[in-house]
Amino acid sequence: MIRTGLSLAALACALSLTPASAGQRGTAAARGSEPTAAAADTFIARVEADLGVRGPDFARVQWVNETYITDDTDALVAKASAAMTDLQVRYALEAAKYATAPGLSPDTRRKLDLLRGAITLPAPTTPGASQQLADAVTRMSSAYGKGHGTLAGKPINGSDIEAAMGSERDPAKLKEMWVSWHDNVGAPMRQDYTTTVGIANKGAAELGYRDVGAMWRSGYDMPPAEFAALTDRLWKEVEPLYLSLHTYTRRKLNEKYGDAVQPKMGPIRADLLGNMWAQEWGNIYDIVAPQGAGDLGYDVADLLKARNYDPVRMVRAGEGFYSSLGFAPLPETFWKRSQIVKPADREVVCHASAWDIDNKDDLRIKMCTKVNADDFVTIHHELGHNYYQRSYHAQPYLYLNGANDGFHEAIGDFVALSITPDYLVKIGLLDQTRVPRADKDIGLLLRQAMDKVAFLPFGLLIDKWRWGVFSGQIPASQYEASWNALRLQYQGIVPPVPRDETKFDPGAKYHVPASVPYTRYFLARLLQFQFYKAACQQAGWKGPLHRCSFYGNKAVGAKLDAMLKLGQSKPWPDALEVFTGSREMSGAAMVEYFAPLKAWLDQQNANKPQGW
Ligand SMILES: [Zn+2]
Repeated sequence: MIRTGLSLAALACALSLTPASAGQRGTAAARGSEPTAAAADTFIARVEADLGVRGPDFARVQWVNETYITDDTDALVAKASAAMTDLQVRYALEAAKYATAPGLSPDTRRKLDLLRGAITLPAPTTPGASQQLADAVTRMSSAYGKGHGTLAGKPINGSDIEAAMGSERDPAKLKEMWVSWHDNVGAPMRQDYTTTVGIANKGAAELGYRDVGAMWRSGYDMPPAEFAALTDRLWKEVEPLYLSLHTYTRRKLNEKYGDAVQPKMGPIRADLLGNMWAQEWGNIYDIVAPQGAGDLGYDVADLLKARNYDPVRMVRAGEGFYSSLGFAPLPETFWKRSQIVKPADREVVCHASAWDIDNKDDLRIKMCTKVNADDFVTIHHELGHNYYQRSYHAQPYLYLNGANDGFHEAIGDFVALSITPDYLVKIGLLDQTRVPRADKDIGLLLRQAMDKVAFLPFGLLIDKWRWGVFSGQIPASQYEASWNALRLQYQGIVPPVPRDETKFDPGAKYHVPASVPYTRYFLARLLQFQFYKAACQQAGWKGPLHRCSFYGNKAVGAKLDAMLKLGQSKPWPDALEVFTGSREMSGAAMVEYFAPLKAWLDQQNANKPQGW
């Protein structure tokens, strides 16, 4: 996750709070005189200067709040967010007016588009509409945050039920948790969600978009319909890999639970996959682990502890990776101002995030780091955001972002893919003698695939459903049925009990009530492998792709920096080409990475029915 001085993306999350004053516009364009290219240039210069000053102030308010939660800092951040949202809505509407001016320079046109499309959930200027939208979204978010399911008849909150879905193996209890969560949290949101869709579509129309879904799809340097087709093409590339994993996992679940719980054929019961949304399956690795190859022979948490690593030293190791690629060390202020461990004496937001407070060099991470393998990977991930932010800091304000929203999340993940056993040897964490032999590779790859491959259809279908809802192709009377149809079509899963239109299962996933677009996570999954393969090729790696680590390769670092430096100043294919030589996003690198696993899975699946 990233937070920046005034990240348009971060702000977008708060846009449900669109204030009523959004309708007040006082520019020449809005007053009816014809917009000109020169006026548009002046407007953009004014916006960039203004946001450049306000952004750091706003980031500091957010930082203080998230690292010191009190009623007072809550009030300060709410006030600052409302003011920022107000401002951004005005700028978006103004940008929409200038978009038709003749003779716009390519940069001004690009910046106007970025401003216009930066709002995730736009309210129309109709009196009362923004308040109605804000009320509906606030009710949904708050209901989600306070949501409870039950376990053995007792209430259990959101984070606890999420963890329990990963560790519980009693199918009756899994079903109870799944059904109670979806019924309690999702179903009551149905009306508010319908209201939200109607209002936000009107807001999108005022900004010149067909509907909210088209607005979301317009952020990818191509017509919205073309982008939708691109996601379909990407899915087709990785679908066979997913099918093999699905078939194998279904058999293992059938062996564990029996035909009555998980039949040999057909879709998988959604609550058996170790995750409330069946979006990542790593939590049930113990059920699918291949005999003899499942145990890797070492545990990163043990290695860290044996070498006396504390959280700060873990972050130093992460910094060391980027330094080995030739990136300058993190600034002194990073170490003074970051929250690396959870403070003992106050409430903080522990969810890991990376910040760039002043859009210059005031980089920070905010984590509640524990000495374990997950947090070691998370550190490499968060620092990826920080180095990206620093590389593009010389860009104009509106270009201070990733090439598209998939890029920012993919950078840290691609670096984290390089945390191989050989890398652990190089940084002195693992003895050479304990590097797992090649016969353990299937275990390593399967563990990775249970998260990264299993996620792909889920990452795709959330927005497939929302695009359909916003366009009207999915009417409100079909919300639940269409959701379940997409879950079946793409993921090959079914709910543990029949669902009907009194339910609203999409609402039981955070990003739907919070209106956070989701396709970025699908793209990031594919891009991280694409970046990884490019880095390994540049490093002259000859072995199987999944064993490559490009640690210490300064040529890779220089080329990476050349892509990162561009920020959002160019269409994303330009940025992609700088680092990978290709202008196309592709699933091919991910397929290659998992090729040994795919071959092994297909052996295991031989003569078994595939698909559902
Ligand atoms: Zn992130």
